[in-house]
Amino acid sequence: MPKAHGHKARKRFGQNFLHDQHVIDKIIRAIHPKDDDRLVEIGPGIGAITEPLLEATGRLDVVELDRDLIPILRTKFFNFPDFTIHEGDALKFDFSQIAGPQQALRIVGNLPYNISTPLIFHLLSHHQQVQDMHFMLQKEVVDRLAAAPGSSDYGRLGIMAQYYCRVEPLFIVGPGSFNPPPKVDSAIVRLVPHQTLPHPAKDVKILEQVVRSAFSMRRKTLRNTLKTLIDADQLSALGIDPTLRPERITLEQYVCIADAISANGDHNEP
Ligand code: SAM
Repeated sequence: MPKAHGHKARKRFGQNFLHDQHVIDKIIRAIHPKDDDRLVEIGPGIGAITEPLLEATGRLDVVELDRDLIPILRTKFFNFPDFTIHEGDALKFDFSQIAGPQQALRIVGNLPYNISTPLIFHLLSHHQQVQDMHFMLQKEVVDRLAAAPGSSDYGRLGIMAQYYCRVEPLFIVGPGSFNPPPKVDSAIVRLVPHQTLPHPAKDVKILEQVVRSAFSMRRKTLRNTLKTLIDADQLSALGIDPTLRPERITLEQYVCIADAISANGDHNEP
């Protein structure tokens, strides 16, 4: 594996360091950082995006798990007094501790691919404290985030992301822009939490349970996958064909199913 700043990229931390200045510039233009932004970067690595972000705003919090990178980051950015490193796991990090009461966070990151899906779910749970998020992800994950009903990419990740956020895929980045190069294409996506949820569920936990159950066997019909939660007659009464597969159901319809289950009060706890 190649070394940068004397650091050997570690596979277990999902380390693929960006080195392509053209891509870095494009990401920064997409983020469009402003002076008073409350920016947080997940996984700064050796600082490819960190540096231009700091130059733009002078103030940045980062969360980095690999403790060997901490001294490298401290040295590189010692002349920025408002650069704060949180050493630890972004999956366990309480983002509300850095969001001010009046100021939502702008979260950015070239995310470690091995944890990107659970990390996005973790961040969605903080949606009220988030202004927007810009992530580099495997292109396939961006396709899933933005997928519409009927597509084979449509599933739990896209539905829950779209429940909370507007999802905007921005551009594709090829493997050659990273060191070491990953095996697949990556893409940048922007997630902007809705100010007002377009389809609010009475109980989001029930919505999550419905979506998880529906997609637990994506080739089966709703009648089968949801049978412990709601029966076929009730689905029909909601105007939803129980013989459909889960990928044909819109977010609005999932919310409608979840609300009917909430009203029944007879759902099974997960
Ligand atoms: N931002 C750098 C860049 O673009 O070159 C590095 C990106 S690299 C794909 C992912 C980074 O996330 C690495 O620095 C890695 O150590 C860090 N990382 C991995 N797992 C993490 C976790 N659970 N919490 C915080 N950072 C993590």
